[in-house]
This record gives sequence, structure tokens and C-alpha cells, in this order.
Amino acid sequence: MKYSIQKTLLLCLCILFSCSQTQEGGSDQVYGEPETPLILISIDGFRWDYLEKTDTPYLDELVALGVRSEGLIPSYPSKTFPNHLSIVTGSYPNNHGLIANSMYDEVFDEYYYIGQGSTAARDGKWINREPIWVTVENHSLRAMTMFWPTSDAEIMGVRPSNWFAYDESITNTQRMEQLLRWLDLKGTNRPTFLASYFNDVDNAGHRYGPEAEETKTAIRSIDNEIGILINGLKDRGIFDEVNIMIVSDHGMTENYTNKVIFLDDYIDISKVELIDKGPFAVIRLIAEDSDSTVENLFPLLENAHPNMTIYKKNGFPENFHLTDNRRIQDLTAVADDHWRILTHDSFNPNRFPSGDHGYHPDYESMHGLFIGYGPEFKSGYVGPRVKNIHLYEMMCKLMNISPSLNDGDITATTTFLK
Ligand code: AMP
Ligand code: ZN
Ligand code: ZN
Repeated sequence: MKYSIQKTLLLCLCILFSCSQTQEGGSDQVYGEPETPLILISIDGFRWDYLEKTDTPYLDELVALGVRSEGLIPSYPSKTFPNHLSIVTGSYPNNHGLIANSMYDEVFDEYYYIGQGSTAARDGKWINREPIWVTVENHSLRAMTMFWPTSDAEIMGVRPSNWFAYDESITNTQRMEQLLRWLDLKGTNRPTFLASYFNDVDNAGHRYGPEAEETKTAIRSIDNEIGILINGLKDRGIFDEVNIMIVSDHGMTENYTNKVIFLDDYIDISKVELIDKGPFAVIRLIAEDSDSTVENLFPLLENAHPNMTIYKKNGFPENFHLTDNRRIQDLTAVADDHWRILTHDSFNPNRFPSGDHGYHPDYESMHGLFIGYGPEFKSGYVGPRVKNIHLYEMMCKLMNISPSLNDGDITATTTFLK
């Protein structure tokens, strides 16, 4: 009796421990035979031209054997969560719901924010389009995610078969090794879709700038991790039996302390709420203040600075694809490339980023990376720049599943496929 209580306790502890890292998906789901695995890797903030900046032998090997796009064009705003979700849902932020990393939703009366430990980032109610791992699971195939923004949320009632809560202490090598372990699973336990996410290149770009030696070191380091994946696949004799896509969410541009626009030089910011600052600033009007109306504030800001453009809630140009989302606030101030929109309070020259993103996708500095390798991809082909909303349909085609509602078009990516 005593022995069995101890045994039960031990079992509970084991389950608890394993749940803090990885969680199994719906156990009553019956899975079919897997398709050719697709491994989707995101290198956050890897600008389209970083491949030329330093030695990247492993990424170069994938390009030589596969395809590369001249650049992956992000959706506006060129921020991390909006674009990771655009890639996996094939949808503009307006339609998938994450129109920024920081948002306010008037119906939920809640704020969205990101970063390790964010509860909002793990809440699927913010998401209105189906990520690829949900599509995969709904086709009775397994999806397993070793980090990807929003992959640790239950979305439309579905989670990947295996997933991890975002935890930056899990090393890049551990992430790669986890992917390889999942590929060792047999039969219907084996995943068809695998994803992982690496943020060191983005961190270095922010801290040191896109041209800095430290950023080149981060690029070489992630290339080395890609080598762990490639060599692990070769050791298993399956390097030519998987499709691999390496993508990034956006590029990176230089920031300068003398390219700052101070909103409080033009309006009384104590009378409004600032939801976001930086490459764009988001102004929410506070209902109690009858003077701070769109009619009053817009003329004060409209021609205030030559490197800042102000848009009303429903007034974004078509190429922003921000049409009717309730999370768009009353006024948005958009900076030109390199500029930042701040307040005097939030400006600290000693803690100023050397690089940032969030600017309009028309700037090449915001374009990211797309490499495709595997049996379905052409070999040694460099293709045109492509919008990231088109990758979802391509991924569905690679895995032989039917896409859910999205804004992309398969004909935009067929040039990369055999
Ligand atoms: P950005 O501010 O657009 O550069 O976003 C990059 C940041 O997103 C990273 O430094 C992480 O802190 C955060 N991030 C990335 N993945 C996740 C995740 N799954 N959950 C929460 N935060 C994340
Ligand atoms: Zn990012
Ligand atoms: Zn970033």
C-alpha cells in the first residue's frame, strides 16, 4: 500500500515536471501516416542580405541544394508577433488579429504584450486565423513546435501534439536536438510539421545594429546550429527525405539618437494613452478628455515633422493592409526608415537601440529571409522577393493538406517548387 502511494506520488511528480516543459496534445485524436516532414525554422530579425555579410556555410549549403528568395517581404508592421503569425496563417495582421506586439482590445478590455512569461501571448482568443499547426492537426497529422510565437497558445481549440512554453533558457542546440528527437519517432507518432524559433540575431541587431561585428557573430552562431540540424539529418540518413524552410519575420535598420521625433513637442501626451512607441506610435484617446479628439489632435500632428506620417483609424493607405481591425487605435504616427517616435520621458541615449524594425515593408531594410530545401524544392535557384502571407499555402501543398481561409496565393510561390 505504502509502496503504491509512493509510486503514485513519483508518477505525479514526473508528469508535473514534464508538463512544465512540453505538453501532449489531445490524446483521443487518431493520427494517420505522416507525410514528408516539413521543418520550419525562424531566425528572428535575419535581414535578407545577412547571408552576404559573413561566413554561413550551412545556410549556403541549403541554398546551393535548394532555393532562396531575394527577400521575404513582411506584413505591416514589421514586428515579430504580427509576422510570425502572418507566415503561419497566410494572413495579414488585420485579419489574423495580431496587428502589433503591443495592443489594446476594447471588447476584451485587455492589453496584449509579448516576452517570456506573457500570459496574453499564450491566449489564443487574440487570434482569428488558423496557424499551419492547427491545419496539420485537423488533418490528423502531427505538428510539433519547439517555440514559435503563439505556438504555446491553444488556438481554435487545438494545440500541436508537442509544444513548449516559451523559455529563453532552452539553448539553441537543445532546440535543434529536440527537432531531431521528434523526427526519430515512428509511425503515426512521427510529426509531419516541425517548427522552431531562434532570437539571438534579432537581439544582436537591436543592441549593436545590423552591420555590427556582434551581429555577424550571432549570424555565424545560428549557422552553426543549422549545421547541427543538417548533420543530425545526415547521420540518420534522412537529409533528402525532409523539406526545410528557413525564414525570418523581418529585417533590421539602424537607429540614431539624432533621428528621434518627440510626440510631446506637438501634443499634450498626458491627455492620451500611448499604446506603442518606436518605429510607430499608437495614440488612444481617453474618453473623459473632451479636448483630445481626433479633430483637435490630427491637425497638430499632421505636418509636425517631415519624417512622420499620421493616420486616422480608418485612414491607412491600401498597402498597409490595415483596414478594419478593432485593435487599430484612433491615431497612428508612422516614422520613416531609421527614425523613432518617442516622448522626452522615454528617450534615454544610454539605452537607445542601435537597430530596430517595425517600419513599412516597402523599405528593403525590413525584408527577411526565405530559404527552401528538400525533395519538393528546385535546386540552386534564386527567385524573386515574395510576401510572407504566401508561404502558408505553399506549406499546405508541401504537406499535402488543404489550406484554411487565408490571404495568400499559391501561384506566388510555385516558382520555387519543382
Ligand atoms: P520584437 O520586440 O518584435 O523584436 O520581438 C522579439 C521578442 O519576442 C523576443 O526577444 C522575445 O522576447 C519575444 N518572443 C519571441 N517568441 C516568444 C514567445 N513564444 N512568447 C513570448 N514572447 C516571445
Ligand atoms: Zn522579430
Ligand atoms: Zn526585434
